[in-house]
Amino acid sequence: MKRNKKIILICHCIINSNSKVEGLSQYGGIFKEFVNLIAEKDIGIIQLPCPEMIVYGIKRWGHVKEQFDTLFYREQCREMLRPIVQQTKSYIDAGYEILGVVGIDGSPSCGVNHTCSGEFRGEISNNDELESILETLKEVKGSGVFMEELKSYLEEVGIKIPFTAINENDVYSSLDKIAEFI
Ligand code: SF4
Repeated sequence: MKRNKKIILICHCIINSNSKVEGLSQYGGIFKEFVNLIAEKDIGIIQLPCPEMIVYGIKRWGHVKEQFDTLFYREQCREMLRPIVQQTKSYIDAGYEILGVVGIDGSPSCGVNHTCSGEFRGEISNNDELESILETLKEVKGSGVFMEELKSYLEEVGIKIPFTAINENDVYSSLDKIAEFI
């Protein structure tokens, strides 16, 4: 049987940009250049679920990490990650290689090295402070909530694998980094 027993875990929107907050995507559906890199090396892909799509749906506004940093959202992340972690453990126990996880830097959920922070809250219509609230948006070091939960869940079952990310603001600039990662 022909298989190389190598698998990579990738964020959902890398191969389905429709899940992203409307207005954000730099590709039509699949980030083909990224997928081609993986395909050239015959690596299998496990697509992670999109936590924001599942919990908030496609009509959501863009959020900052603080808005998702609730016990409920973290528990929901864990719930949807359970089958992923179970499969990952099964593969590793059977001698397969899980190369790592590719997240989306800048995302409040899926950032790995960077996420977004701000004082977002309150009613949008008739809000005199809306402009100053939006100005609090900044990129900060650290992971998004979903990636934090994935990392700690994996560690709880004894799995330590590397995490990297593509840059949400300029996905094409991340291709060299991904090529090195795999
Ligand atoms: S970065 Fe994560 S939460 Fe945001 S659209 Fe992609 S998969 Fe969904």
